[in-house]
Amino acid sequence: MSKLIISISLLLLAYLLFLGYLKFQERKNSPKLDKTKVDKLILFYRNQLNLKNKKIHYEFTNKKQSNSELKNGIYFIKFGKSALEITVLHELFHIYRGDCDNHGKGIFNYVRIRLLYFFLFEPRTMIHSIQNKTINQQHF
Ligand SMILES: [Zn+2]
Repeated sequence: MSKLIISISLLLLAYLLFLGYLKFQERKNSPKLDKTKVDKLILFYRNQLNLKNKKIHYEFTNKKQSNSELKNGIYFIKFGKSALEITVLHELFHIYRGDCDNHGKGIFNYVRIRLLYFFLFEPRTMIHSIQNKTINQQHF
C-alpha cells in the first residue's frame, strides 16, 4: 500500500513541478500588464483567436490571480494584481477553448471542472501562451 502512495505522490510532485515550469516559461519576460495597453492587447488577441463575435468585458481586481467567467452570455476577465501582458492571451485562450463556459451545477461538476483545469485546461493554455509569446511580442 505504501509503495502505491509513494508512487502517486512522486507522480503528483513531478506534475506540480511540470506545471510550475510551464508557468515560469509563460510568465518569463512578459511585462506587467499596463492598464492603458489592455484594449490594444485584447483587440490583437481577439483577432488572432477569432473571438470577434464574443462579448468580452474586463476589469482589474485586487485578487492575486486572474480568471475568466461567463455570465449571461458575456465573458468577464478579471485581471489580478499579478497580471502580465501574457495573461491577456492566457485568459482569451481559455475563452476560445470554452474552458470557462458553463459546465453545469452541483458538487460533482465542480470537482470535475477543478480536475479538468488542473490536468488539462491550465497546461493546454500555458503551452499555447508559450508557443505564441515570442511571435506576438513583435507587435507591441
Ligand atoms: Zn488559466
